[in-house]
Amino acid sequence: MALNINPIISECTCYAVCGREIVVRLDNKNLTFDDLLKLKELCGVLSFVEEKDNDLCVLAISDKDKLPSEYSLVSLRSKFFVSDSESIYRMSRAKALASWLADTKFCAKCGAPLVARESESALECKECGSIVYPRINPCIIVLVHKGDKILLARHAQRNQDIYACLAGFIECGESAEHAVEREIMEETGLKVKNIKYFGSQSWPFPSQLMFGFTAEWESGEISKQDDEIADAQWFSPDDCPATPSPGSIAYLLIEDAKKKQKSV
Ligand SMILES: [Zn+2]
Repeated sequence: MALNINPIISECTCYAVCGREIVVRLDNKNLTFDDLLKLKELCGVLSFVEEKDNDLCVLAISDKDKLPSEYSLVSLRSKFFVSDSESIYRMSRAKALASWLADTKFCAKCGAPLVARESESALECKECGSIVYPRINPCIIVLVHKGDKILLARHAQRNQDIYACLAGFIECGESAEHAVEREIMEETGLKVKNIKYFGSQSWPFPSQLMFGFTAEWESGEISKQDDEIADAQWFSPDDCPATPSPGSIAYLLIEDAKKKQKSV
């Protein structure tokens, strides 16, 4: 597959994105290529991609205040919850490619402008020959169990109104399991064991791939990392504070814990 930065009219699946939101038509019909051309003209362009072999076309608009009245913006995450897996994949890919292209303009080796490759979805530098592929940042997200309680934390910098699973980027040289142990120790001072893979989810905000795990508390008392965590506590799954809304792997991890508690 290849990225076409100068798109041609086609019948591909079309998306327009703006930050963490996606453009929808108020008549509930799918966006067409004509919609993208119209939005491109009126709302400005951060990136515009047609991935011909994947039948995917995506526009990242720069000015949502100029969105015509027949469209509106909805949270992409909310669409994940109500869409089938193929649609979620296509929306995630569209958002990830749009964000990557908007942020990737020049060669990191020599500083020359990057151009789309014809043979694959990548950019290349005509000066030094470097090839740049869409970036994915692997992360872990983990729900720690201690007896019939689960560990939830309120983040100090983001989503401050909810308690969620602990999460973090996998660092160079680490396995995912190593990252689970390190993140939990860094953020709460707890040692964990029996780390088990739960599932994964593309999280294109802008480029994360979330690897979900469960783990069991092994030792230690909660000692939170103040610059990252505002609060961390053990909760009963059936008596949690506000937690992540549907559409995320955090939601699935917590729901799974609730189901298991009910079945005991
Ligand atoms: Zn270069």
